[in-house]
Parts: sequence; C-alpha cells; structure tokens
Amino acid sequence: MKRRTFIKTTSISGMACALPPFITLPFTTDYTTDELMGKADVDLFGDGINLRKEAYESFLEMKKAAYADGYDIKIVSSFRDFYRQEAIWERKYIQYTEDDGMEPLEAIDKIIEYSTIPGTSRHHWGTDIDIIDGYPKSSGDVLVAEKFEAGGPYEGLKLWLDKNSEKFGFYLVYNNDPRRRGFKYEPWHYSYAPISIPMLAAYRRLNVLRLLEKEEFLGTEYFTTGFIKTYVEDNILDINPELL
Ligand SMILES: [Zn+2]
Repeated sequence: MKRRTFIKTTSISGMACALPPFITLPFTTDYTTDELMGKADVDLFGDGINLRKEAYESFLEMKKAAYADGYDIKIVSSFRDFYRQEAIWERKYIQYTEDDGMEPLEAIDKIIEYSTIPGTSRHHWGTDIDIIDGYPKSSGDVLVAEKFEAGGPYEGLKLWLDKNSEKFGFYLVYNNDPRRRGFKYEPWHYSYAPISIPMLAAYRRLNVLRLLEKEEFLGTEYFTTGFIKTYVEDNILDINPELL
C-alpha cells in the first residue's frame, strides 16, 4: 500500500512538471484491473440499486426529483459482474451459432449490437444504470428505443431526463448521434460521470486484447487484434463525448 502511494505521488508530481498547473489529473491509479473488468468485490449501495456510494446518493436525489414531477425511475439493470456478463454472452453465442446457424464471427457481430464482451462492460463499474418509468403499463421487453420515443410509455421520463439527469451527474452513454459507431442507441443507459470518467481513463490504459486472450469463454478464439482494436475504438470509446 505504501509503495503504491509512493508510485502514485511520484508519477503525479512527475506529470505536474510537464503540465500547466491548472490541469488536475484524476487519480486513475485507484482502480485495479480486476475492478475495471468486473472481477473484484466492490462496495455497492442501495437494495436493487447497487451503485458506488456517491453515484447511489446522487441517484436517490434524482429519483426524488423525478418522483415530485410524476415519474417513478425504476432500475432494470445496474452492476453486473464479469461472470454474469460471461453467462449472457455465452447464452447468446449458443443461440446464434447453434439455434440460428450463424457463423461465429457473424454471431459475435450480432451479440455486440447490444451486449458487451465480458470484461468490457460499463455495468462492471457500479456507475451505470438502465432505467425506465415504473408507472406506465408496458408489455414485453422494456429496453426498446421506441418505448422512449413519442407515443411510447417512457416518453415522459425520457424528456424529463433530457432536461434534468445531468444536474445529478447522470449522462446518456450511447446517444442517438447518427455518426456514432459501436453500440446502438440506448435511451435507457445512464452513467454517473464523476466516477465513470476517471474509470474510463484508467480502463484505456489496460491492454484489453492481452487481457481477453487469457479468457476462455465461447468465441474468444475468434478475437483477432484487428477486431478488438475496432471494438475498443467503436464500442468502448465512441460514446457521448461528455463522458470521455
Ligand atoms: Zn446498460
């Protein structure tokens, strides 16, 4: 612990020499590789909320404010560990390759329209949530973009979030910018920026290809350097620029 503190202090002061004094760097060394990949036990707060402390507190404030305006923010999904993501990935992989007869690479492309490769999900961080409005009745899948658009059951909440979520630190990640690559538009997925920005900065320093090469879940044998490089550029980094 002492040693780590020493290294951190040294590197930060080292950088301070080269950078203008008004630029402050986030303490990204506080996040371990396991933590960034969803393999560590982190302290999460709130029954059914499961966010890091500061994100949890701000979420409650946002929920309260929305409630006063007639919306019941309900979390559909928040923290998900590596192993849970691995189960989701493998279920889809088997479905697409065996039931639907797709080639492995085609199946992987299909999975990554909406689901992440285990170890690369923002849901591993305890900062990101998928939310809907608990009030309107709605049938079938709830995380469908049309349901957040004009005439859909969550239109009201979406308009409220457009106006208010950033005041509480929550930003849309996969916005509807037509030039954006990677994951499709997800009007339900919000991220608590004050923590997820430094976490993404730390994540960018990982060698994702090398880390994924060590994994053995279905489909990993088809991951090439080019595929992972594009995946990182498009699916991890081509997001709402305010979260970079
Ligand atoms: Zn999500």
